[in-house]
Amino acid sequence: GKGAAMVTAVAYRLATQHAERQRVLDALRLSREQLLEVKRRMGEEINRGLAKESHDQATVKMLPTYVRSTPDGTEHGDFLALDLGGTNFRVLLVRVRGGKRRSVEMHNKIYAIPQEAMQGTGEELFDHIVHCIADFLEYMGMKGASLPLGFTFSFPCHQNKLDQGILLKWTKGFKATGCEGEDVVSLLKDAIHRREEFDLDVVAVVNDTVGTMMTCGYEDPLCEVGLIVGTGTNACYMEEMQNVELVEGDEGRMCVNMEWGAFGDHGELDDFSTEFDRAVDDCANNPGKQRYEKMISGMYLGEIVRNILLEFTAKGLLFRGKLSERLKTRGIFETKFLSQIESDRLALRQVRSILQHLGLTSSTCDDSILVKEVCSVVARRAAQLCGAGLAAVVDKIRQNRNLSELKITVGVDGTLYKLHPHFSSIMHETVRDLAPQCEVTFLQSEDGSGKGAALITAVACRIRDAGQR
Ligand code: BGC
Ligand code: MG
Repeated sequence: GKGAAMVTAVAYRLATQHAERQRVLDALRLSREQLLEVKRRMGEEINRGLAKESHDQATVKMLPTYVRSTPDGTEHGDFLALDLGGTNFRVLLVRVRGGKRRSVEMHNKIYAIPQEAMQGTGEELFDHIVHCIADFLEYMGMKGASLPLGFTFSFPCHQNKLDQGILLKWTKGFKATGCEGEDVVSLLKDAIHRREEFDLDVVAVVNDTVGTMMTCGYEDPLCEVGLIVGTGTNACYMEEMQNVELVEGDEGRMCVNMEWGAFGDHGELDDFSTEFDRAVDDCANNPGKQRYEKMISGMYLGEIVRNILLEFTAKGLLFRGKLSERLKTRGIFETKFLSQIESDRLALRQVRSILQHLGLTSSTCDDSILVKEVCSVVARRAAQLCGAGLAAVVDKIRQNRNLSELKITVGVDGTLYKLHPHFSSIMHETVRDLAPQCEVTFLQSEDGSGKGAALITAVACRIRDAGQR
């Protein structure tokens, strides 16, 4: 009868809508073959970045860091460290004890970097940084002290020595003028001199990945890779000097800051990216740049999710087809939200209340299920892409050493990796699957970037002092 026909029509409509949603989401589901291809291409870019003749064209810059060894435990002294480029800006005092009672003790203070300082002039940014250092020294009762300083500066820098870092380009939310192409140590020193209050001995510029590797290396000598998955993403590892063609010498190893976030900037990821990735890229500070980072890190995942939800809503597949102003607002889904919504213990009712909290009030139960599914597809893809990149790195190290099996530890830091309920396990599983000849242990670093900068400074001071004796 008529009723049955109507039921059939409704069922048909629901089935079509379901298929339509899955068709969109399928573009974000990567097959094993695709991930293997990502791994292969990353391996290729690694070699291109390392080699002198192809370096300029390579997207993955493989920057020499002048860090040649992990700590040996004899380092000691008091050091200052700055940590700029993650979720927070911090100033730290780090006390390193060597020998039998080796330990690292830290005091730190978090400072906000106001939007104006991030996006104004370089002078304003560095004046603000020096203002924070002055405040910290006063707070610690150390006004006028002149300690060796390690500067964790989490952006791509060209280095000719440990205590220099020429900023190649800003990433993440930063765009202060007059800094790109400049040595950040000079910018910092200039700002210190402008203030005429104290002097500092800047010993090292350190990428956060390198700091993380060093911190974990202090506990575990097998740690020769550093990985960050937070606001941005990047990795570093110990490469054979012989392969680091940008630096003279063939002996031993040097840590290389990969700057893998730029992978894809020459189209290497085009076959795997979607219209949503393009939309996120178009609206970012740095369109066309950091394409791999934009598919993986915390600063962008929420935007990918929002763009998918916009599309679903426009097609009448979500929020009863009503596009709210809220949903049109950039940046409403922070990393925290992605982590919360996927938490296993969360009942659907709570998902709905999170959506309501975000101002997406017209949501139904089905809407909540769909939003959660979108978040999970986007996070899974991010974790798998990151795992594919890491698989290329550990396999490269294994091949460097002519081994059929490699045991290695990866030191990891970053809010997404630490807070998201599934990211780390999916990433680990992907590495295991794509690099089966490597036995990889993951070690979370406690405060990797700040502590690591201090350790690197300590190693440099140990060597410098030994040379002076
Ligand atoms: C920067 C890297 C940094 C990473 C994680 C990226 O945007 O280019 O230098 O290591 O973020 O903070
Ligand atoms: Mg950090």
